[in-house]
Amino acid sequence: MKKLTFFCYAALLLLTISLSAQERDPIIQAIENEAYANSQLKTLAHELLDDIGPRLVGTPQMQQAHDWAVAKYKSWGIFAENQQWGQWKGWERGISHIDMVSPRVQTLKGTQLAWSPSTSTKGVTAELMTLPEIRDSISFQKWLPQVKGKFVMIAMKQPTGRPDENWKEYATPESFEKMKNEREAASKTWKENIERSGYDSRSIISALEKAGAVGIVDNNWSKGFGVDKIFGARTKKIPTVDIDLEDYTMLYRMVEHWDNPKIKVVAESKDLGAVPTSNTIASIKGTEKPEEYVVLSAHFDSWDGATGATDNGTGTLVMMEAMRILKKVYPQPKRTILVGHWGSEEQGLNGSRAFVADHPDIVKNIQAVFNQDNGTGRVVNINGAGFLQSYDYLSRWLNAVPDTIRRHIETTFPGQPARGGSDNASFVATGAPAFNLSSLSWDYWNYTWHTNRDSYDKIVFDDVQNNVILTAVLVYLASEEPNKTSREKIILPIDDKTGKPENWPVPRDPERNGGL
Ligand SMILES: [Zn+2]
Repeated sequence: MKKLTFFCYAALLLLTISLSAQERDPIIQAIENEAYANSQLKTLAHELLDDIGPRLVGTPQMQQAHDWAVAKYKSWGIFAENQQWGQWKGWERGISHIDMVSPRVQTLKGTQLAWSPSTSTKGVTAELMTLPEIRDSISFQKWLPQVKGKFVMIAMKQPTGRPDENWKEYATPESFEKMKNEREAASKTWKENIERSGYDSRSIISALEKAGAVGIVDNNWSKGFGVDKIFGARTKKIPTVDIDLEDYTMLYRMVEHWDNPKIKVVAESKDLGAVPTSNTIASIKGTEKPEEYVVLSAHFDSWDGATGATDNGTGTLVMMEAMRILKKVYPQPKRTILVGHWGSEEQGLNGSRAFVADHPDIVKNIQAVFNQDNGTGRVVNINGAGFLQSYDYLSRWLNAVPDTIRRHIETTFPGQPARGGSDNASFVATGAPAFNLSSLSWDYWNYTWHTNRDSYDKIVFDDVQNNVILTAVLVYLASEEPNKTSREKIILPIDDKTGKPENWPVPRDPERNGGL
């Protein structure tokens, strides 16, 4: 009896060893080896983020990035091209330099917003003013002429420049509560004050411009030390700048105390008329089922307050490096492997929406899309996007992913179809199985997303490398899958408003003529 048990264990052990030996798929092993031994991530990051810089739609840097990516793919022996899908207002950011020149001199931290009209090289020097307490639209109209010749500060003075986590750590609970209540009351007062003018926080800008303001000074604080979100200007002729909270609130207090601070703003830029806007598409042709596609997806454009390192430099790096590795270790895929580096995601998923509209033949034959677009962190969440059978194929693929990577990932099945947020939504809307590889935050939302601090130094290369291997393995397995993946959709939950199940999202038209 004892002997038999021993033999049983021995047999079991042997079986286990041979199974795990079988599980070490040589291609997956090769993907890992290439990713670790020959990583190109730092070189790619340097060339894209340091040398080319931010990639705002319509800028020469966006075009430079497209051309760089095509050249890079060609150097790896991968077919690549830029596919134009529209045109956009062309603009090139020049120098932003903001100084307080009176009552004392201090160089201020700030920058012009995207598409801001240019000043001369000498800039504009003028006094600042804040919005008054507004009683009603009539009194506001009476007050308006006073903005002539002045910079107008259009953002609330924040009560603190410390992030909430910092208060939580150090303040007494009473003091933290008090600050939050004061801040909430101040925001409410600020909003209601603007509403009484007859404008909202956007339309008031053109009223100020028409009344003769020489510039708009904004502060879009991102709730962290030294971080602001930098979006587009709404002025037609006068510059719009964002000044960091630390300096903005100082100027605001000085205005309140009748110090009459004067600032000098140099905000140079070039209006370049209409320019083409494109996606960069690269592909490795399938050998058995070339008409079926596995898609790697990451938007290529960024806002331009910094260099767009985590939105979406890191997603871009993941997809490029995964393509490079796949070409090297899996050069003859069963299905065609295609990567989309989309233009103008930030203005409404425009590049990917144009792609699905222009390539119905590809879209209907998609095996899977893997999109990454929320920062530098390792992937921690994947959801089935509302495809009923996604559990079957996605979990099988994930099972083959090396445990050092898979163990961080939580899955949700069947999940919900994405309705926006990033480019996977453009594909899901057509019924194509498109999945978001969702990253650990690393303070993405406050510190890097669309901010003036979204720069190379925030990249966590180990996590990016983790995502490269994950993506390459998933793409390889999706390509090798014997059958086409199921597109069966779940029945969506009941919509409270209609009493009927929610509808599956539908494709939306891209903006093909932006800012013109
Ligand atoms: Zn993004």
